[in-house]
Amino acid sequence: MHESHAMPPGSGTPPTSPPPPGDSDGLPPDSPRDDDAMRGRDAPPPASTGLLLVVSGPSGVGKTTIVRRVLERFEGVFSVSATTRPRTAVETDGVDYHFLDEKTFQSWIDEDRFLEYAQVFGRSWYGTPREQIDSRLHEGRLVALDIDVQGAIQIRERMPESFGIFVLPPDDEELLRRLRSRGREDEATIERRHAEATREMRIARECGAYDEFVVNDDLDRVVEETIRLVGRRLGSGRA
Ligand code: ADP
Ligand code: 5GP
Repeated sequence: MHESHAMPPGSGTPPTSPPPPGDSDGLPPDSPRDDDAMRGRDAPPPASTGLLLVVSGPSGVGKTTIVRRVLERFEGVFSVSATTRPRTAVETDGVDYHFLDEKTFQSWIDEDRFLEYAQVFGRSWYGTPREQIDSRLHEGRLVALDIDVQGAIQIRERMPESFGIFVLPPDDEELLRRLRSRGREDEATIERRHAEATREMRIARECGAYDEFVVNDDLDRVVEETIRLVGRRLGSGRA
């Protein structure tokens, strides 16, 4: 897993086993409890509530590529996360991420604007803005989140009816090759992210936040597999 901690920016040394923000029930103290969140994980979501698809996997494994194609099939939408990470040359603010400074990210936390948030790679903060997610789900849309394992654990606690998929690489060398092929980071960053992958995959298997594990060996194959899994969960026969 990435070094990932759900503590506000600037709040000091993060705990080794990060708690979700707020109290022990995993919700911020003033967070409204959705009755839907109290339903069992296996209960099918009502047709009108769409589906929250949580996708995680090591950096460079192919999550963005897969999810874009799945969303095309279901006319779904990608949630745009906020992050304190610097924007890279190939990214656009408001499209790839909302790039925020730490002060602004903290103010979004204070205003309870995140469905989940975490510190990833031990340095930058990432969070899913609540805005538009609830409304899109109520419209019956498929909404996809590309978030790390800590975020997926928070979502599973708050929205047990969400659907979690973890994407695995075919092997270690191929993961490194894909990280390089994105042409986004310098070599030191690539190697640090690669080193996180093994730990992340182990925690993903143990944490219970994922319903399915798929291997991104052949892109067309894994896209079809993911479409089948999502279609089955939607129960719509649209796949
Ligand atoms: P992530 O979102 O997980 O960081 P990306 O979707 O950006 O990963 O993919 C990383 C790189 O790997 C991209 O260059 C993408 O085109 C490539 N890629 C994705 N899936 C495959 C695949 N099955 N075979 C070969 N290359 C792939
Ligand atoms: P990157 O910097 O490569 O775009 O993303 C790094 C990691 O942060 C990825 O594992 C990605 O899934 C995760 N991430 C992106 N957005 C969010 C978010 O909103 N919340 C959480 N918890 N993780 C995120």
